[in-house]
Amino acid sequence: MALRNHQFRQAARPVGAVKRSDFDYVEAPVRAPGDNEVLVKILYISLDPAMRGWMNEGKSYIAPVQLGEVMRAGAVGKVLESKHPKFSTGEFVSGTLGVQEYATVDGKLLTKVDPDVAPLPVYLSALGMPGMTAYFGLLDVGKPQPGQTVVVSGAAGAVGSVVGQIAKIKGCRAVGIAGGKQKCDYLTQTLGFDAAIDYKSEDVKKSLREHCPQGVDVYFDNVGGDILDIVLTQINRNARIVICGAISQYNSTSGVKGPSNYLSLLVNRASMTGMIVFDYAARYGEAGREMAGWLKSGQLQTREDIVEGLETFPETLLKLFSGENFGKLVLKVADA
Ligand code: NAP
Repeated sequence: MALRNHQFRQAARPVGAVKRSDFDYVEAPVRAPGDNEVLVKILYISLDPAMRGWMNEGKSYIAPVQLGEVMRAGAVGKVLESKHPKFSTGEFVSGTLGVQEYATVDGKLLTKVDPDVAPLPVYLSALGMPGMTAYFGLLDVGKPQPGQTVVVSGAAGAVGSVVGQIAKIKGCRAVGIAGGKQKCDYLTQTLGFDAAIDYKSEDVKKSLREHCPQGVDVYFDNVGGDILDIVLTQINRNARIVICGAISQYNSTSGVKGPSNYLSLLVNRASMTGMIVFDYAARYGEAGREMAGWLKSGQLQTREDIVEGLETFPETLLKLFSGENFGKLVLKVADA
């Protein structure tokens, strides 16, 4: 019997938070692979804050998802049929496969993944795009030196949790900012952060002073907004601020709130640099090998928050914006 695909296609440009009506959930035939193409059965889909931005119209670092197009998403899956010389049936692969059950794609867009090295969802977290973001954002842009203080927001999330752990591996003091006691306890008690600040219940400025007695040398910003503004008041001379994301602003309907304390950059001869992980694609192999080594040695830990069922996609995506996800948010579509 011919395979049928289920897909989420973008139906509207969202205003504020994403709604189910911003998508069409459709059934469609599965296209057989042509020359150099591979048919992949999708097992796990990566849910990322960036998806919200990809749904907007306008110029960005990547083209917007077009109305009627399958929603863009990273995913891991199993090869069902291959007409590409590099891939065989039964192998596991990752790539930008979309929010759907099956994808027929050019093999050059796929990367093989090995479930013996790490469980498949880890290829969407520490060994995937968020891990690469943490690795290159911290090491190439933040340039932390041993003994320096690294502060990261969104610290219990996919990117932030890896940033803090790499900071520790590199001999830095790691201070995380996250929402809620459970996430903060996880940072200090499980991941080895030196301190954690619960921005929902603490005075962030006061806690930063307490936990960063030598000031802040690197701030890895995942959230933007008020937290960025507060950290700016605590930076050291020559500090590096890595602008990785600004999740507090993604659903704003009244424009992005920029930092009013930016003159701290001038006073401290500091820098604030935007980074996009895709610019480092040629070096993913290098980072992946080092991160796999840290995972194996136990220096790096990952946590995935796995939700089952493709059809829950719009509501599950919202967990990123309410902070309900605890670890890398992954949608499980099928068993391997
Ligand atoms: P994540 O941290 O796993 O999940 C998002 C977290 O953001 C939530 O769990 C929540 O944690 C926090 N959050 C949500 N709304 C917030 C608000 N208003 N204020 C403060 N915190 C809020 O997500 P991720 O995949 O690791 O992504 C983290 C950031 O990195 C995002 O900004 C994303 O866009 C960015 N990113 C950038 C690149 C790049 O190439 N530049 C690549 C990947 C990701 P709490 O419970 O702690 O509030």
